[in-house]
Amino acid sequence: MSEGNSMTKVGAVRLLTSTHERTIPTEDVYFAFCDGRLTYDCEECKAACCRGKGYLLNGDTESSSHFAGSKTLHVFVNEDPGQQKTPSVSMLNLPPACFFLTEDGFCRIHVTKGSGAKPETCRLFPFNSLAVVGKYLVVRAHPSLCPLKVKSDGALDPNSRHTFVLGELQSAGVSAELTVCEGPTDLSIQETINLERETVTLAAEFSATRSYAEFAATQLVLTEQYVRSKPETASGRGVSLQVDAMNDFVAHCLRLLGVSERLPDCDDPELNATMVVATPILRSHLVFQKSPEEKTRSGQGVQLTQVPFMLLEVFVLAALAFASGMRAVRIQTLIRLLEATRSLLTLLSFVESSVMWKPGVMIPRGTFGWGAGDLEYERIVKALLPAQQRKAERSLGHLICDSGLSNSERSRFVKKLACRLHDKIKPTSEPDGNNVGLRRRLSAGMQRLAVSNLGEESLSKILVTGRR
Ligand code: SF4
Repeated sequence: MSEGNSMTKVGAVRLLTSTHERTIPTEDVYFAFCDGRLTYDCEECKAACCRGKGYLLNGDTESSSHFAGSKTLHVFVNEDPGQQKTPSVSMLNLPPACFFLTEDGFCRIHVTKGSGAKPETCRLFPFNSLAVVGKYLVVRAHPSLCPLKVKSDGALDPNSRHTFVLGELQSAGVSAELTVCEGPTDLSIQETINLERETVTLAAEFSATRSYAEFAATQLVLTEQYVRSKPETASGRGVSLQVDAMNDFVAHCLRLLGVSERLPDCDDPELNATMVVATPILRSHLVFQKSPEEKTRSGQGVQLTQVPFMLLEVFVLAALAFASGMRAVRIQTLIRLLEATRSLLTLLSFVESSVMWKPGVMIPRGTFGWGAGDLEYERIVKALLPAQQRKAERSLGHLICDSGLSNSERSRFVKKLACRLHDKIKPTSEPDGNNVGLRRRLSAGMQRLAVSNLGEESLSKILVTGRR
């Protein structure tokens, strides 16, 4: 049984929130991190999570014991109207430090009464980023507050063991509001969870690798088995072919980012181990997207086969951060990179594909405020018209590299282009889908006609001003 599948003990996690009042069997709890491979040092980070971030108490029982012994603490209950229906009690925690943080950086409740007496938020921290996906509860590490590191001595850290975190989840249930997420469109939720659990197992096996490209290739082969039912690619030969393809992909991405030299830090064992162990966490942010009513700026979901490419790009960006002078890359660095560069990662994942405008999308207008960039954008706008691309089948990378931009200009252009094209292009090989309505098809057709019949000058006017 895989590390990711190890939760089959009797018992369940009670969800006590206003929107989720049910129990989740332990086999439906998915831990999006390797069992025991993460570690943290509260002394080193000076208890950043205990400094003015607020915390939640789990219902009346936990509140009464929390307030016992203090005649004043109840004043700092944070009466947020959004919390009214939940049993949890939100506490205002003021900078520079929590009421219970001692001068030497320890939690007084933990020291005097044990971990189980701490508020719910603190008991679960840093594994308190919880999401509901269908019938599953996905347990993730907090995306930013804790400078999690990879356990490098081969031993397992008891604080990040799945059994330990499960015990904390079961002890009093979960009263904090949960993020509701959807699975990807190209696989059922159950199959997706199976795929993610296999990836967790692989991450533990690959944590000593010196080549993230190899791990990315293995993820791709596994994903294709699930999504495209391609058992023949599961062979070692399938993986080695993909490793070559991944290395070519990295070279292509570097060219587009205006970096002409090979990255010396790609072989750094610590960087590779951090990226491998972070992979299930990063995947959980890509694969499980907030449901439409909760969706903010994350945009549309990615295709599962894009994910290994996007993660390889995060690795490349982390290596570039090293090359630019960063002293250490942590898991929170990688999560931040993923969040801050999502549209770039999506664009780069298409560099070796022939892509075109999605049916019905409005071509984004406006200038880049920079002449050479505007001209290149106009050229790409026309090149991505479906009729054009179905004939030419040019990869997005080649289309971009056709420009005469210098390395630094190209890097700037690619980032701007990524924002413009986000959620608006798709591979030419992918069917349009049955849900594209007649109106959207007509609007796409009209737009195609308009743009393809215009010269560069008129097109520029449409793009800039929206008028003919
Ligand atoms: S209660 Fe303890 S663990 Fe929670 S924020 Fe305060 S000091 Fe930190």
